[in-house]
Amino acid sequence: MRILVLGAGFGGLELASSLAEAFGDELDVTLIDKGEGFVFGFSKLDVMFSKRLPDEVLHPYADLAKPGLRFVRTTITSIDPVAKRVETEAGPFEGDLMVVALGADLHPEATPGLVEAGAEFYTVAGAFALRDTIAAFPGGRVVVGVTSTPFKCPPAPSETVLLMHDWLVGRGLRDVSSISLVMPFGVPIPPSPDASTALFAAFAERGIEWLPERLVTALEPDRRVALCSDGSEVPFDLFLGVPVHRAPRVVQESPLAVDGWIPVDPRTLETSFPDVYAVGDVTSVGTPKAGVFSEGQAAVVASQITARLRSSSTPTTYDGTGICYLEFGDEQVGKVNVTFLSGQAPVGGMEGPSMDITGEKREFGTSRIQRWFDRPWAPS
Ligand SMILES: Cc1cc2nc3c(=O)[nH]c(=O)nc-3n(C[C@H](O)[C@H](O)[C@H](O)COP(=O)(O)OP(=O)(O)OC[C@H]3O[C@@H](n4cnc5c(N)ncnc54)[C@H](O)[C@@H]3O)c2cc1C
Repeated sequence: MRILVLGAGFGGLELASSLAEAFGDELDVTLIDKGEGFVFGFSKLDVMFSKRLPDEVLHPYADLAKPGLRFVRTTITSIDPVAKRVETEAGPFEGDLMVVALGADLHPEATPGLVEAGAEFYTVAGAFALRDTIAAFPGGRVVVGVTSTPFKCPPAPSETVLLMHDWLVGRGLRDVSSISLVMPFGVPIPPSPDASTALFAAFAERGIEWLPERLVTALEPDRRVALCSDGSEVPFDLFLGVPVHRAPRVVQESPLAVDGWIPVDPRTLETSFPDVYAVGDVTSVGTPKAGVFSEGQAAVVASQITARLRSSSTPTTYDGTGICYLEFGDEQVGKVNVTFLSGQAPVGGMEGPSMDITGEKREFGTSRIQRWFDRPWAPS
């Protein structure tokens, strides 16, 4: 059977690895991605705050070597879910079964003034460029702001203000600086009251300003103010934005997209097209856009494929659970265990923050790189 996996992020890598492990070269898996390599979202923060060098957090796809797996580096230009065929800059590819794991594209240019007057920390290029910007920052008004919903890893803006606090303290610049966080929610992590309470306490202890229930709609470069959806203005010297997210254009232009994202059966991750699945950020499955959820969904698709090919195997279905690690700064990490089941309010308790969980988060990164790339790696 020929399996076409579109996108080698959290979801695509997990799926390709699971299939290689289960079937070896009995299956013909083609994994396509336009990028040079994989970067964890949390590694973007490590590079921004000079804990890691860019080369240390990029995992080149050229290193992928698994039985039955072929990696092709190219850009996908159209998707035909009926024929399970894609056109790419390297020619067409066709499968008997197709899995779309193309993530969300980021659009800093969609927010007026963001590119001219601010910066964004969600793309690899944006986060890596911020390493020098932050290192040269002389102190002043720092604003971290979200420009639209949905956005990946909803805890990341809260983590960023806490890490920024540590950075400024470490450089003796905290006294001449302020830090503000503009968020679209009423609390930092709506599905987890415990995590939100812990974050509120951390913000209060550190004097971080919390500006809830608004989005940053534009930056005014001349006045250096962020304009918010509720009519308020927030002045800044350094603006770190979460840019507008959209499904990749190739997905939006395909028949798979409905209202901008790909709807799937939340239990099986099947799309409305036979033998076409979709996982992760590119879907509207109802879980947050985060790697742990993409990975969990990919594992379910791997089990669905295994059950189709091996009658002895029973397919698992997706249960909407995921663990999010939450940086509190000062080397302390908390853990939020959250469940999103359709039709029910999501719930999530929090453990920590503690140094033990910091070690657990490191192991999370190490184990993924070992499984996907067959080599050791240690995050910061
Ligand atoms: C600052 C930050 C911190 C984060 N921290 C965490 C965290 O601690 N835990 C967590 O779980 N998540 C975290 N995330 C979120 C996480 O990175 C994403 O949710 C996750 O990567 C989504 O996985 P995915 O497989 O759905 O898509 P992606 O990992 O985005 O993969 C999609 C792939 O598709 C490729 N692609 C797209 N279009 C095309 C095309 N036309 N042709 C070819 N290839 C294409 C892309 O190059 C990409 O490699 C963080 C994100 C950010 C920005």
